[in-house]
Amino acid sequence: MSEHMKREAVARPLIFETGSPESRCVEAPTLDVPDVDLDAALGGNARAVAPRLPHVTEVEIARHYAHLASVNFGVDNGFYPLGSCTMKYNPRINEWACRLPGFAGAHPYQPAETVQGALGLIHGLQESLGEISGLPAVTLQPAAGAHGEHTALMMIRAYHVTNGDARKRVIIPDAGHGTNPATAAMCGYTVTQVPSNDRGGVDLAALEAALDTDVAALMLTNPNTLGLFDENIVEITRMVHEVGALAFCDGANLNAILGKARPGDMGFDAMHINLHKTFSTPHGGGGPGSGPVCVAEKLAEFLPGPIVAKDTDGSFMLATPARSIGRVKAFLGNFGVLVRAYAYIRALGAEGITEVSEQAVLSANYLKERLKGAFDIAYDRTCMHEFVISGERQRKQHGVRTLDMAKRLLDHGVHPPTVYFPLIVHEAMMIEPTETESLEVLDSFVDAMLLIAREVEEDPEMLHEAPYTTPVRRLDEAAAVKQPDLAWKPAE
Ligand SMILES: *Cc1c(COP(=O)(O)O)cnc(C)c1O
Repeated sequence: MSEHMKREAVARPLIFETGSPESRCVEAPTLDVPDVDLDAALGGNARAVAPRLPHVTEVEIARHYAHLASVNFGVDNGFYPLGSCTMKYNPRINEWACRLPGFAGAHPYQPAETVQGALGLIHGLQESLGEISGLPAVTLQPAAGAHGEHTALMMIRAYHVTNGDARKRVIIPDAGHGTNPATAAMCGYTVTQVPSNDRGGVDLAALEAALDTDVAALMLTNPNTLGLFDENIVEITRMVHEVGALAFCDGANLNAILGKARPGDMGFDAMHINLHKTFSTPHGGGGPGSGPVCVAEKLAEFLPGPIVAKDTDGSFMLATPARSIGRVKAFLGNFGVLVRAYAYIRALGAEGITEVSEQAVLSANYLKERLKGAFDIAYDRTCMHEFVISGERQRKQHGVRTLDMAKRLLDHGVHPPTVYFPLIVHEAMMIEPTETESLEVLDSFVDAMLLIAREVEEDPEMLHEAPYTTPVRRLDEAAAVKQPDLAWKPAE
């Protein structure tokens, strides 16, 4: 690479290190209440030294946040094919919808008759998700995918306990998302892992061997984290039911099957859905999410309460199911996320959401076919919304790891795909383009990947140092997780 492309990041002072004691960007209003001696009011316990807050002007604070935004990578900056995460573009109009004063200003303690519109929206979303999943009873309370999994497994446990059946194990395929075994363990179950077969589906013989009347549930992602639809799904859920266990679908990512296939029809008894992946809430920054749980009739009485129900006169009310596992979140969940999802589903309609999945699957298959020669595809079948390539050949022949190639993509303005997941593929790179990218964007990603494939052969050393053009280069990711240094400490 040419020297001028290598830019070193210029250290920029922190907000705490800028400004001066005289600088202000707020003007306190004139005091219109009696002045008090704070220290006396606090019994002499007021702090002796003022807090070391930054003193900056309004434009300095504006620049501070604009700068932070500019050193971050988001879907507004470029292509973001982060497998399993569905980093699609979320229509701005849904942001407008959830900020409408009637929604944003509603108070959770308002009497039901004063928030009929909001309750009607929740009820409508419950019904839509019930229809999309084929599992008609729905709670919108859980705040994230993992939270939804946990809620569903608590309901499954309550179901078995009610039947006087204290089962101890949960079965999870080796392609499962890490939150699955964590959820099962948190619900007090031990986990039995079953391997995948050579087509990337569940190995039926291994499943058969793992199943007995001690199994409470199977937790399965379909399409799975290899981006593959399990061809034996109906047989799998039949086998699970045969021993009296229930089938749970990890539907965090529903982008591939909207309007095409319904987990309820595949024999699943419960599933969770991530509204912040498939249904139009931006995510990735740790902001509010939503992981609704949809269940079959036999689990409906265990749903967390309250849910929104329709009264005989057509008005909406709160109702708690007979054997509810209780509340899993304050009030009715992250309402703003629910508004976005509702607006998204209603705007697209049944045909529109079907097209979402058609386009997402088409985009993934297009990329897979175009990258196939230069990269090894882990399981080369028609994929769903994502696919996994293995960088094992590049590592063996040229000493370049998938991490190096992923980092190099940043120099092309592309967010790196998910790497080293799923665990069963060596040097995995999991690519999910989503439906919101144009053919031109997909082609420019292919160009970047093919260029990187050539660089692997011609200049492998250079790749070990990538990225070159980002605000920060290679970070010590283990230290960032294990010893985060996030708080500013004043110089003494
Ligand atoms: C994202 C994801 C989850 C977890 O969802 P969170 O909202 O991050 O808790 C679970 N399973 C799968 C398959 C996922 O992709």
